[in-house]
Amino acid sequence: YFANAKIGGTSAIKIKVLQPFILYCTRFALSLHPKHKIQNKMAQEDVFKKIVSHCKEYGFVFPSSDIYDGLAAVYDYGQNGVELKNNIKQYWWQSMVLLHENIVGIDSAIFMHPTIWKASGHVDAFNDPLIDNRDSKKRYRADVLIEDQIAKYEEKIEKEVAKARKRFGDAFDEEKFRATNPRVIEHQQKRDALHERYTEAMNKMDLNELKQIILDEEIVCPISGTRNWTDVRQFNLMFKTEVGSTADGASTIYLRPETAQGIFVNYLNVQKTGRMKIPFGIAQIGKAFRNEIVARQFIFRMREFEQMEMQFFVKPGTEMDWFKTWKKTRLAWHEALGFGDECYRYHDHEKLAHYANAATDIEFKMPFGFKEVEGIHSRTNFDLSQHAKFSGRKIEYFDPEENRSYTPYVIETSIGVDRMFLSVMCHSYTEEKLENGETRVVLKLPAALAPVKLAIMPLVKKDGLPEKAHEIMNELKFHFNCKYEEKDSIGKRYRRMDAIGTPYCITIDHDTLNDNCVTLRNRDTMEQTRVAISDLRSLIEDKVSITSLLKKIQ
Ligand code: ATP
Repeated sequence: YFANAKIGGTSAIKIKVLQPFILYCTRFALSLHPKHKIQNKMAQEDVFKKIVSHCKEYGFVFPSSDIYDGLAAVYDYGQNGVELKNNIKQYWWQSMVLLHENIVGIDSAIFMHPTIWKASGHVDAFNDPLIDNRDSKKRYRADVLIEDQIAKYEEKIEKEVAKARKRFGDAFDEEKFRATNPRVIEHQQKRDALHERYTEAMNKMDLNELKQIILDEEIVCPISGTRNWTDVRQFNLMFKTEVGSTADGASTIYLRPETAQGIFVNYLNVQKTGRMKIPFGIAQIGKAFRNEIVARQFIFRMREFEQMEMQFFVKPGTEMDWFKTWKKTRLAWHEALGFGDECYRYHDHEKLAHYANAATDIEFKMPFGFKEVEGIHSRTNFDLSQHAKFSGRKIEYFDPEENRSYTPYVIETSIGVDRMFLSVMCHSYTEEKLENGETRVVLKLPAALAPVKLAIMPLVKKDGLPEKAHEIMNELKFHFNCKYEEKDSIGKRYRRMDAIGTPYCITIDHDTLNDNCVTLRNRDTMEQTRVAISDLRSLIEDKVSITSLLKKIQ
């Protein structure tokens, strides 16, 4: 309103000069309004909803058992989803086993001896504290509610800092501001006090104290808005099943909640048969199962999901250096995708798992906030020692340089394929306003991860153009994933390819039959260039290969 209103007696030029200032003031005033915060949140929720429906509409992710109305927290990957997922896995696998001479892979079984889960501590301690809201009947993880509250204090601090940075410009001394601004200090004190109380409660697993924190912090249920909470209870996340018929005496086994234990119990096999020397790593990709209390946010938290884990065995005493190295290496792997460094942050753990002496998460900026995508843990020699104790085997490494045996320490990198998939989709989903006023939805996937690399389109379905298109397809399909598309107008075909993130399209027209050239269209710039068919492979292959990503992190 202000920006468009005429101000009495002011000349048109002055209005022009004043307009940006008035707009700024209006935006600033609106941003202070509590409604703005809600709108912002709503906007992000809307974006997320769009991404979820886009995933279904374009064959990336379907609810599992869809025709039976789905199964909570279980999803299937469609024709495009499986390609994207496989590319993510390939990128990870190759970054581990191709780029590191001292890392090898395995593929262990999902069913394992039940004692393994006793030894690892999962039977006794793989629990989440749960709490219910009596009014909404919704269930939450008590630790997540409190961590969200800590994040709220952090957000408040960052907002104050951002405001001041804008106000003071180049003269802004952030360190001094953080140390002296009364509002920032107040939020910091509240955050630190809560953090300390929470860490202590989690370390002792004091369920009454966790509830008391929720009450004292006046945390409300996001659905009902009330503080009518039940007591906090423990809940074991492992799925149980039985092997063998009952007549034979069936025994209870578990669906593995992590792939890591399959690596630990194969440590001796791999070390001996591969003649591996410390430091060395074992990598594995596979399914894991957790009976999650709260299964929301699409494929972020699933009951059946996939992990990519690598256990790196090191000499005791060197683990902290390796921990730092792997923190850096893993962040570089993420950043090579080109989403921008601001999309990631480390989050050091307040509460260490029973086996760890250091742990950090790599968090990604999802539409619903920064969330863990990968965990990096220094697991000490806990797992190998426990398996030695429970199995009665000697699980050690003879170090020829030191002429002594020891139980290796372990640094673990553990990333969820599905969360990685979600982060890629969230960052790539873009709605663009075109010059003609239309909106195009384009998935700006890193080319190396895109399900289809090249769409091959004859301009019309006659005059020998489809035959020429197939000829090109038959040559290129051996090098990267190509898709033949002849239905609808070229414009519609481009849109369909944009929506699944295909980085390149080529059009075969009548001239192609004479000059052996095609029109190559770039997904992101929409630029079209005429190129020789014989140059296509060399123009495209390098840009869409996993090697192009690997070279960035090498
Ligand atoms: P969270 O705190 O979110 O439950 P976590 O710390 O228990 O995760 P880890 O045990 O460290 O997770 O597992 C390693 C990785 O496996 C996580 O970083 C995540 O990417 C993935 N992961 C864990 N649980 C799930 C799940 N239920 N659904 C999808 N991915 C998961």
